[in-house]
Formats: sequence, C-alpha cells, structure tokens
Amino acid sequence: MEMFKITLTILSLILFSCGNKGAVETESKAAVNASSTTPHFNADSAYAYVAAQVAFGPRVPNSKPHQACGDYLAAELKRMGAELYVQEMTLTAYNGERLQARNIIGSYKPESSKRILLFAHWDSRPYADYDPDPARQRMPIDGADDGASGVGVLLEIARLLGENAPDKGIDIIFFDAEDYGVPTFDKEHQYVQNSWCLGSQFWAKKPHVPNYKAEYGILLDMVGAKGASFYKEGFSMQYAPHIVEKVWSTARDLGYGKFFINANGSYITDDHGPVIAGRNIPCIDIIHTNLDNTHGFGSYWHTHNDTMENINRETLQAVGQTVLEVIYSK
Ligand SMILES: [Zn+2]
Repeated sequence: MEMFKITLTILSLILFSCGNKGAVETESKAAVNASSTTPHFNADSAYAYVAAQVAFGPRVPNSKPHQACGDYLAAELKRMGAELYVQEMTLTAYNGERLQARNIIGSYKPESSKRILLFAHWDSRPYADYDPDPARQRMPIDGADDGASGVGVLLEIARLLGENAPDKGIDIIFFDAEDYGVPTFDKEHQYVQNSWCLGSQFWAKKPHVPNYKAEYGILLDMVGAKGASFYKEGFSMQYAPHIVEKVWSTARDLGYGKFFINANGSYITDDHGPVIAGRNIPCIDIIHTNLDNTHGFGSYWHTHNDTMENINRETLQAVGQTVLEVIYSK
C-alpha cells in the first residue's frame, strides 16, 4: 500500500495537526466489556500463523515461496471448515511482467444473504525500496507486518469461526499482488496508482460469487507491529464512517483505545479501494500509520526490517478481539 499521493498526504497532515491532539484513548480494563458469545482470540495462535507465512520466504508472485504459502493458506481455510474458493489469475504488473496469482477465499455460512467481508493481502513486496541500503533495495522483503500480520489475524479468526458458527455469513479473502506497485527506484516506468492492489482489482470486476454483496468489509493491513497506531483512515471515513465508529468504539470498550486512536488519519491506497468502487461495499482499512516518518508508515515499511521481530502479540490481540466482537455481537 501507499499513502495517497502528495495533495492528499498534505491534507492528511492538516487533518492530523488540527485533529484530536491528546485524544489518544487511555487503556481501560481489558476485555471487561466483551460479549459472552464472542470467542477468545488467541494471540499465540495468530503469531504462529504470521511466523508460518514468513518462514516460506518472501511471498512474491511467480516464486516458489509464493506458491507454497498459497497452498498452505488454502489448505488451512479448508481445514478450518470454510467453503474454499481459489481464484486463479494471470495479472499484468506495471512493468509488463505476467504474474501468476491467486485470491484465496474462505466462506462461512455461504447460504446466508447477510454477509460480512474480512480481507488482507497475502503477497509480500518484491522490493525494499525504502531500505536504507541501496544495494538491497531490489530484493524482496519478509513482509511480516506488511501482509503476513493481517492474514495471521484472519486465520485465527477463521479457526474460531470453524469452532463457533456465526449467525451471519462471513467471507475471508486473502488478496494477491497488492504490493507490486511501481518502486521508487524505477525511473523507466511512470508511477501509477493502479499498479497496487492487482488481486483486489481483479476480484472487484469478477467476484468469486456472481453479484457478490456484503453489508460491509474490514481490511486488515499491518496490524501486528509493537505499539501500532490505527487512525481513522481517509477513504474508510468517506465511504464507511458508521463502520469506523462501530469498530473504534468496540475497541475502546474492550480496552484497546491506545491502538485505535480517536482521530482522522491519511488516505491510503489499499485493497479496500477496489472493493468499495467495484462492488459498492462500504469498507474500512485498519492499518498502522506513523506520520513521524515521511512516508507515513512504520519505519520498517518496505525495508528488510519488516521481520518477525516487530510482531507483537498485544497488537494482534487488540485487532483480532475487536474484529471478533464486531462480527459476533453487533
Ligand atoms: Zn506494502
């Protein structure tokens, strides 16, 4: 993903600077307000799912680790009782390269017309274009937070959905080729916004079920870093403010207000864009941002430091338990 280009980034800086300074929630007693019907999110399990993906190596389309990890994700969803759909695609990258890619989809209660969509990207960036070492910028990254964390949280949610049937339909989509956007070092190819999110663009035109519809969608991206801060992302506020409020107030009630900051954030190019535009489904993006850095994300973003060392169980717990509470009790 990328911060939306220049003008909107400036807008977001303004939003940040005149937004709720000091409105960072203080942590209340954790999980006291959790509904009794909501299963308990196991952060150790989620952490293990993140580690399992990273252990394959960088999940870059057309590579062996990508193939192996995709097989693993599909098998896990099936094992956890989901109805599995694998959407195979040949995508064209910004540089003309043909990418063999897969969107991997697990559905719970597929017959239900009332549905919620949960999604994350499972590929990892082929470049480390923000790495301080120019000699390593053309090498793919681990993507422990950028990619694997969102999928790890959703795999743990899938495990719990398999054990505790929800009263509504839930679809979990792992989108491919989100992070193949034009790298900053590439002077040959013009920067284009739609070089990102290729898998979700494909799905938005051709969903796994004809005329697919969900009440709303929640995207998890970079949800595992220690001390993460989730601001109310721009497009989420524009297209799904009621879902943002539902999720942020749930997090606050559960005692996770220190992660879910009560202030507006930047506009971010991410997989929720194609889902909103192509399927008319209101979606939100829960994503870690840090405007202390010029690019707006964690300092490890698109570098070789996006490793398991940054992944923190407390953050995974905050996100996972909040999403579970929303889908089971709201
Ligand atoms: Zn990325």
